[in-house]
Amino acid sequence: MGNSLNKLIRGYRLFSATYALQYEDILKNLTAGQTPEIMIVGCSDSRVDPALMLNCDPGDLFVTRNVANVVPPFADDKMIHGTSAALEFGIRHLKVKHLIILGHSQCGGINARLNPTCVEDSDFLTNWTSLIDVNDKAPDLNECAKHSLLNSHQNCLSFPWIKKKVEAGEMQIHLWFFDITDASIHAYNFDDKEYQPL
Ligand SMILES: [Zn+2]
Repeated sequence: MGNSLNKLIRGYRLFSATYALQYEDILKNLTAGQTPEIMIVGCSDSRVDPALMLNCDPGDLFVTRNVANVVPPFADDKMIHGTSAALEFGIRHLKVKHLIILGHSQCGGINARLNPTCVEDSDFLTNWTSLIDVNDKAPDLNECAKHSLLNSHQNCLSFPWIKKKVEAGEMQIHLWFFDITDASIHAYNFDDKEYQPL
């Protein structure tokens, strides 16, 4: 346990010694506030870090991550909704131009949806993963992850302010799938209705 924490502390020391120099120009702008043009809904999975895999700088991405990168449907119930609050912040207040929903292969959250017994004693996971739309025609784990992105896209459009921005051409939604086995990304082509290399 100590080794993993020590790795972080060493990483922080390296970061603090180099960050201000490496990002001097960027930091000058960032102290005034953030103006990211891209928002990502990604998975909590430790293998899929959006800023790392997309080689981004501070200020580039507004990110929210949850189990299985799910966008829930809009809910006007006055309850607490973490992912929806992040969407509202990014889209209504920061006015991002692009929303990328980033799925990935070997997703533990998708697996939990397909094999609910592995989380049957959970307090929250079973309810959360019930949001994942399972494609009965393609029970394969990675195919389900890709199908779930399509469902999240539909859920995005159930948010009135997202639908309005998309229809007005003020924002685009992208569905990307990261394959851990070869570090490739495929993007969904809405015209051809298939995932194609990015
Ligand atoms: Zn995942």
